[in-house]
Amino acid sequence: MFKKVLIANRGEIALRVIRACHELGIETVSVYSVADRDSLHVRFSDDDVCIGPAPGRLSYLNIPSLIAAAEITGADAIHPGYGFLAESPEFAETCAASNIAFIGPTATQIRQMGDKATARKMVQSIDIPVVPGSKGAVDDPDEAREIAEGIGFPVIIKAAAGGGGKGMRVAEDANSFAQAFQLARNEALAAFDSADVYVEKFLEKPRHVEIQVMGDQYGDVVHLGERDCSIQRRHQKLIEESPSPALTDELRARMGEAAVRAAKAINYVGAGTVEFLLNTDGSFYFMEMNTRIQVEHPVTEMVTGLDLVKEQVRVASGEPLQQRFKDVNLRGHAIECRVNAENPDRNFQPSPGTITVFHPPGGPGIRVDTHIYSGYQVPPHYDSLLAKVIAHGTTREEALVRMSEALDGFIIEGISTTIPFLKRVIKHPNFQAGEVDTKFLERETSLFHPAT
Ligand code: ADP
Repeated sequence: MFKKVLIANRGEIALRVIRACHELGIETVSVYSVADRDSLHVRFSDDDVCIGPAPGRLSYLNIPSLIAAAEITGADAIHPGYGFLAESPEFAETCAASNIAFIGPTATQIRQMGDKATARKMVQSIDIPVVPGSKGAVDDPDEAREIAEGIGFPVIIKAAAGGGGKGMRVAEDANSFAQAFQLARNEALAAFDSADVYVEKFLEKPRHVEIQVMGDQYGDVVHLGERDCSIQRRHQKLIEESPSPALTDELRARMGEAAVRAAKAINYVGAGTVEFLLNTDGSFYFMEMNTRIQVEHPVTEMVTGLDLVKEQVRVASGEPLQQRFKDVNLRGHAIECRVNAENPDRNFQPSPGTITVFHPPGGPGIRVDTHIYSGYQVPPHYDSLLAKVIAHGTTREEALVRMSEALDGFIIEGISTTIPFLKRVIKHPNFQAGEVDTKFLERETSLFHPAT
């Protein structure tokens, strides 16, 4: 087992990893930018190193600084969290070359799934359905338009290197295609340094259902059920739950089997997520695989009673998957809400600043993963996630009332947050009934303009 783990991240996920390591008896090293000097991850770790100025590219994305910090503090492993360098094959490679274990898959595995166009091809070769679309990346606008006409409009043009909902454009018809194609390429180039895009049929009312997988170094891969992440704004997840209200045991088994097969095809090691779109008729299509721990992993932890982060650390150190990961029983229902520092009444404009009052909710079945506290200054430089509220109940109904109660009792003052908006979504009759799809928020415009 590792002796000392450096966490190459910040915010709630840095705290989450610190806790997991301490429970395993492993020492921790935090890294921080000058904007994060007063962060809790710095306070709760055993050792800490300042790695640079506030902008991410000069600190949390600076590979030489991170490796130097690990070497100075004698860390024998690095956990990348999510975002930043979590899916960087260069980082995984540099760790390996520096004799530091990367807690995650190998650089090769990250590469195989990192390019979404390549991943699509790979899973097609093992008979996993993908949304009808181009075989790989397409550069030529005319060729792309022909492909789009072949599959039928509407289509979605997606960045091959994409993530976080960026570099995606929908074209409703042949007339708007050329412009959408160019915009997607420009966005892809700006965000991911690669203009590669591919074209897919745009499904009208799909649900986003993803399968959590975990693999060890001995070829064992298991799945831990699904998360339904259909509540999205601009292709970004806001609320996730498990089990999905749309899945039967039979469908779960088939999607789980497909996810495990995709992971096994690349000898996957560690925690990963295989994302699917689920159509109203029960057909499902592979979208992409995320080769890291995800923001919404607590939902799975609540229904399985398993600790995914500790298992990531264990399998990275060479231990085989624990038996309890093979005998998984889903217990009850869990829902997660992402609380962001954004103003929902002003088009979700970021709202950095000082938190003057902070009181988190609690009680049976409530878990709050957060790094904020009263007096904490939310810096403007990073992701706006402030806290994740997870409610677990014996039934979906119980999880829903617990979530409503938790959001009502969550006090954050001094900045704007998305809590009022989340409350409205949770109370919406369609959400209550479990009848939502990825376009739900787009249609329910009343949620964005509450009656005052
Ligand atoms: P990212 O990696 O940026 O998160 P994804 O490929 O995971 O991008 O897609 C994000 C979201 O975009 C999906 O959850 C879904 O809501 C929407 N989406 C992506 N592809 C399609 C499609 N072919 N049809 C309909 N919606 C799609």
